[in-house]
Amino acid sequence: MFDVLIKNANLPDGREGIDIAISGGRIAAVGPGIAAEAGETIDATGRLVTPPFVDPHFHMDATLSLGLPRMNVSGTLLEGIALWGELRPTLTREALVERALRYCDLAVSQGLLAIRSHVDTSDPKLVTAEALIEVREAVAPYIDLQLVAFPQDGYYRAEGGVDALNRALDMGLDIVGGIPHFERTMADGAASVAALCRIAAERGLPVDMHCDETDDPMSRHIETLAAETVRFGLKGRVAGSHLTSMHSMDNYYVSKLIPLMAEAEINVIPNPLINIMLQGRHDTYPKRRGMTRVRELMEAGLNVSFGHDCVMDPWYSMGSGDMLEVGHMAIHVAQMAGIEDKRKIFDALTVNSAKTMGLQGYGLEKGCNADLVILQARDPLEALRLKANRLLVMRRGNAIARAAPRVSTLDLAGRPKTVDAADYAPLRPGRG
Ligand SMILES: [Zn+2]
Repeated sequence: MFDVLIKNANLPDGREGIDIAISGGRIAAVGPGIAAEAGETIDATGRLVTPPFVDPHFHMDATLSLGLPRMNVSGTLLEGIALWGELRPTLTREALVERALRYCDLAVSQGLLAIRSHVDTSDPKLVTAEALIEVREAVAPYIDLQLVAFPQDGYYRAEGGVDALNRALDMGLDIVGGIPHFERTMADGAASVAALCRIAAERGLPVDMHCDETDDPMSRHIETLAAETVRFGLKGRVAGSHLTSMHSMDNYYVSKLIPLMAEAEINVIPNPLINIMLQGRHDTYPKRRGMTRVRELMEAGLNVSFGHDCVMDPWYSMGSGDMLEVGHMAIHVAQMAGIEDKRKIFDALTVNSAKTMGLQGYGLEKGCNADLVILQARDPLEALRLKANRLLVMRRGNAIARAAPRVSTLDLAGRPKTVDAADYAPLRPGRG
């Protein structure tokens, strides 16, 4: 007797007609035709069942602050930075917690059950860290939230930045952040990378830096980050977020850089929505896309996972907690339109990001946590195309969000009465 039995599921790896049995919050069996009693039986009707979406790069202290203290009228990065500067001194713990919890509600409805959030440590009051630690605890039953100590104004550049970051780690933030391209000089940037990797090694923590988020091909802090990762024995525990300068680098240099990154087992986190919005702003035409080299990094064996980065904050007025929207943009910007390409993009929103975050018990194999999402789509390709509706979101075997199937009714003479966008499969020869 199982707690829950999900029948007739399609899995991301292409298997169809699979049953998933759940007991005690874990997956007890996966396979075709499981015949057993269950407290609840759910017919997935040939829809895609996936492990939850995972966002490895977000800013939960800024999210949903759009409009405070005013709108970003120009939509530029510079006005966004100015806005955050105006907002930050007015932040209260209560308001930060409330906005973060509201975002987590949205995330759950989107099947997004693990998030790594950067937390700005530039204001020495550290009200951001206090608030997000409270949120981490509050959402633990339904979201795995990791917190990065992020010196937004520069580890060395901001007055008191060194002390504030270390105090934030003392308070219990999980990961060492950085922003080397924003330090005053290339040398300061490289020194910050070394210092922050040393802190991570001494404290036994992972590293996740905003790294080379610029179009300057000479912004090469990822090289230093990879080298310091090897030097401090941090292989596999370090992430490079953005890495947009790699888009503009010389190909010869990149041919030397990528193997070093692979040796250091760097986790690569592009943020397609933000990167296509904010990069190339100094170009006229041709205008660079600015996203890092996703295909080449994947082909070299690096773990690539995509982040949402921002939702309705001073830098980005859009976004909805939908990782499929992130993947949809990634397909376009990276021009990864092949069938296998799209499967890899779907993995970059799920299993790859789970690896970046070091999540335990993630997946749909026997013994994993019974965390999953049923989508209104047959397979990962359709899910990405439609940014598919989340019909059911499950955490440890309990349904924590449900949505009715999205179906429109039509009133057209001689045409069908209803339209389900997830009912438009590619045509197959001989089957119409
Ligand atoms: Zn970011």
